[in-house]
Amino acid sequence: MKVFRIILLAVCAFPLAADVSQCACDPAKPETMKARECSLCVEAGRHTAEGKFFVLKDNNPRKPNRWLVLPVGHTPGPHHMHEMPKAERAEFWQSAIRLGKEKFGEEWGVAYNGWKVRTQCHAHIHVGHFIQAAENSNFKLVRRVEEFPTPEDAGLWIHPVEGGFHVHAGEQIAETVLVR
Ligand SMILES: [Zn+2]
Ligand SMILES: [Zn+2]
Repeated sequence: MKVFRIILLAVCAFPLAADVSQCACDPAKPETMKARECSLCVEAGRHTAEGKFFVLKDNNPRKPNRWLVLPVGHTPGPHHMHEMPKAERAEFWQSAIRLGKEKFGEEWGVAYNGWKVRTQCHAHIHVGHFIQAAENSNFKLVRRVEEFPTPEDAGLWIHPVEGGFHVHAGEQIAETVLVR
């Protein structure tokens, strides 16, 4: 349990000087997996029997209402969302939304931080209770998950609205719109 907590603390901290542009996690070279930014890649290796995606409870005691959805599969580098095949990306978002609905009904929110603030190489979507007060006018109304944009340089946060989803893009730190 202690290891688990350390992993999640690493995910959730934002040392602004750090980024994931140098990710070298390679399961075929165990020594590379010891790097802190590879913790979630190691974790993914423990969930290979769970299908394409798996769920982790954010075990950071300061974020008791947060969850993460992650792909089981590992790819080299920082696992950029825009490098994922389109169909897989849609499934990734769908899995996160399904969990959000299960936990928070129609008040769910999902967030993907930009690579400049990510401290973990393995792709992960944050799932939580959307903070209504975080709403702003910088959104695109999108009707289908398949049409979610995939900015290469920014994060995304998404919440449900009448007729579809608000997709807010442009910020690096996206997960702060979710209740800790
Ligand atoms: Zn990985
Ligand atoms: Zn909105």
